[in-house]
Amino acid sequence: VICEVVAVGTELLLGQIVDTNSAWIGEQLALAGIDCLRQQKVGDNRSRIVAALREALDRSDAVLMCGGLGPTQDDITREAIAEVLGVGLDLDEDVAARIEAMFARRGRRMPMNNLRQAEVPVGAVAIHDPQPGTAPGLICPAPGDKVVYAVPGVPHEMREIVTRAVLPDLRRRAGVSAVILSRTLRTWGESESGLAELLAPRITELDRLGGVTIAFLASGIEGLKVRLTAKAADEATARAMLADEEERLRAQLGPLVFGVDDETMEFAVAALLEGHGLTLGLAESVTGGLLSSRLTDVAGVSGVFRGAVVSYQSEVKFDVLGVERGPVVTAETAEQMAVGARRVLDADVGLGITGVAGPAEQDGMPVGTVFVGLVIGDQEPESIRLALPGDRRRVRDFAAISALDLLRRRLLERSG
Ligand code: ATP
Ligand code: MG
Repeated sequence: VICEVVAVGTELLLGQIVDTNSAWIGEQLALAGIDCLRQQKVGDNRSRIVAALREALDRSDAVLMCGGLGPTQDDITREAIAEVLGVGLDLDEDVAARIEAMFARRGRRMPMNNLRQAEVPVGAVAIHDPQPGTAPGLICPAPGDKVVYAVPGVPHEMREIVTRAVLPDLRRRAGVSAVILSRTLRTWGESESGLAELLAPRITELDRLGGVTIAFLASGIEGLKVRLTAKAADEATARAMLADEEERLRAQLGPLVFGVDDETMEFAVAALLEGHGLTLGLAESVTGGLLSSRLTDVAGVSGVFRGAVVSYQSEVKFDVLGVERGPVVTAETAEQMAVGARRVLDADVGLGITGVAGPAEQDGMPVGTVFVGLVIGDQEPESIRLALPGDRRRVRDFAAISALDLLRRRLLERSG
C-alpha cells in the first residue's frame, strides 16, 4: 500500500503555521511500515483541493487529508472528497446527535453551520473524536479498492484519530503483521558526527543482522536523539530487542545518555537531586530565568528546587549574592554566584551562570562565553567555561541545558 498526504490550509502556504501534522504523519507511517512517497500542501480552495486529491489518488492506494473539516465556510475538505468520489453528502444522524448533545450540555445555542460537520460523503464511515462535538474523521472507500481518509487539522485531534483508526486500517489493507516499536535515547555532550563515529561499528553490525535500526535526530536544546527501531513478529519480541539494544548503547555511551523518550534534561536532574536527597538553589544572570523555567516544567520539583535569584545587574550579584566587585563574566563570579545562591536560598547545591549572550561583547569576553559555577554542600566550588555558538536566543538556551548537564554529571558521579 502506498499512501500520500494532503495537508489543507491556506495558512500552511503563507507560512503562518508550520505543517507539523505532515511531519508527524510521515513519521507514523514509516513506523507502521507503510510507504509514503509524497506529501502535498494546498490552500482552502475547492478546485485546487479536488485537483490535489485526484492526482494523489491516481498514483497511490490511500490518501490521508488533514485539515478543513471544521464548521466554517472555508472548511471544504468534505465537499472536495465527495466531488472526487462522485458522490453526494449525507447527514450522519449519529454525528449530528453528538454535536447537538454537546451544545445542549454546555447550554449553548448551536449555530446551523455546525451541522455541516455531520455531513459525510455517501459511503464513508465517520470516526468519532472522543470529545464529542468536534469534527469526526472520515474513511471514504474509493474505486479500485483505494481509500481516502480525512482527519481534522487540530494536531491533538488529528493524532488521536490517526493512531486509533487510520493506521490500523492502513495496516490491515497493507497486510502488515509485523510490530514496529521505537525508543529514543537522549544525549548531551557529543556532536552528531561524534556519536555516529562512536556507534559506527554497531550500526554496521546491525545492518547485517537486521531487526533493529539506529537513527540520529538532532534536536537542538533538547539534545541529540538516538532512535532505536525494532521490527518483529510480535510486541514482546520487539520490546525485548529494544531493551537489549538500549543496554548495549548505554554501556557504550555512558553518561552521555540523560533520558529515554520524553525524559528531559531537567527531569533527569530533578530525579537525581531527589535520589540524593539534595535541594538546589540557582543564581541566573545570562539565562534570566530559563533554568528555573525548565526545572519548574517538571511536576513535583518543589521537593528539590528551592528557587532562583535572577541577578541580572552586577549590583545584584554583589549586594544579594555576595560576589566580589569586578568584572562579572569570569569563572570566579560563576562560583561565587553558586555559593551565594546556596546560602541565600538555603539549599544544599548552588548553581550559578554568567556569560555574554550578545549582540555585543562584555568585559572583553566574546559573545557566547558562558561560565557555570557549581557548589555541592561544603565542597570547593568548581566552574566550567563554555564557548557557545549562535545568536542570543541560542546562546541562552544552550547555556541553560549545559548548566543542567554539569549538575547532572556531578550527581551521577556521586551515585558512583
Ligand atoms: P477546525 O474544526 O478547528 O476548523 P479543521 O479540521 O477545519 O478543524 P483547520 O481549520 O484546517 O482544521 O485547522 C485548525 C487548526 O489546526 C489550525 O488553525 C492550526 O492551528 C492547526 N493545523 C491545521 N493544519 C495543520 C498542520 N498541517 N500542521 C499543524 N497544525 C495544523
Ligand atoms: Mg477549520
